[in-house]
Amino acid sequence: MTAHPAHPADRPAAPRPGETPEAAHDAGVPGPGIEAPLFTAHLEESLDLALRELAGRGRILVGLDFDGVLAPIVLDPRTSRMLPVSAEAVAGLAELPGVDVVLVSGREASDLVALAGLPAGSRVIGSHGAQWGRVVDSPDGGTTLEAEPVGLTEEQARLRAELLRETEALAAEVEGAWVQAKPAAVVLHTRPAEREPGERLTRRVLDGPAAREGVRVVVGKEVVEMAVLEVTKGDALHQLRGALGVDAVLYAGDDTTDEDAFAVLGEGDVSIKVGDGESGAAYRVTDPEEFSAVLVRLLELRQEAQDSHL
Ligand SMILES: [Mg+2]
Repeated sequence: MTAHPAHPADRPAAPRPGETPEAAHDAGVPGPGIEAPLFTAHLEESLDLALRELAGRGRILVGLDFDGVLAPIVLDPRTSRMLPVSAEAVAGLAELPGVDVVLVSGREASDLVALAGLPAGSRVIGSHGAQWGRVVDSPDGGTTLEAEPVGLTEEQARLRAELLRETEALAAEVEGAWVQAKPAAVVLHTRPAEREPGERLTRRVLDGPAAREGVRVVVGKEVVEMAVLEVTKGDALHQLRGALGVDAVLYAGDDTTDEDAFAVLGEGDVSIKVGDGESGAAYRVTDPEEFSAVLVRLLELRQEAQDSHL
């Protein structure tokens, strides 16, 4: 049997002589000259709707992970910066009435404040929930962190010192690997190391210091965090929402530790996973660039909701 070329009746006819190809088409229908509809600048409809509902609630908490969400992941975490569009939207949200902004990160709280350039009044939760603080105006005209102290028991402080010593000894054997001492944790970073030696080192640390009793281990992207305090991003977010008495929460994160935060959210809240990987979040965007569009949209919708109440 011979295959016949398809000629569906609803297909636009070829342009007649003297007629331009565009005139033979409805604008927006893919065909000659129009490759695909231009929807890329818009967020997924269900996410847009969820943001609209959130923006209409009384008091809202916007919880944001930093690395991989506001700031693209870079080789050396000391050089990461927020995308300018996100920085502007976060500052705009923080200044709106009834909106609390909190950065929730594995980083140290002071590090977050220095990198993020948050307006006074914003909150930070560092070290995966172990450190709490607020951004306040400093006498020099800038901003600074007003931190709540991290309370370690004598035993936890001793454990932290031992973890640091053991992990540093192991990391010294692998070029590029480095160890960070946090107030309530010790962190192994292998991102700058070569892949195989880095993975071998990770296994040795997981089998060694990380396996000690009383250590809470979080394995992230080429990062192993060994905390001596039993606290997660989820615990911190849940506690903060209760303390502020907010009506709804948005939380966005890209890593395994953010799943704890997604897990404490409920109906009326908005959870957004940034990037690939399994997640319990309700929505997903591909990267920090696309997430910046979420922030801009939320700011716009909240301003609209506020104006309509005036
Ligand atoms: Mg992250």
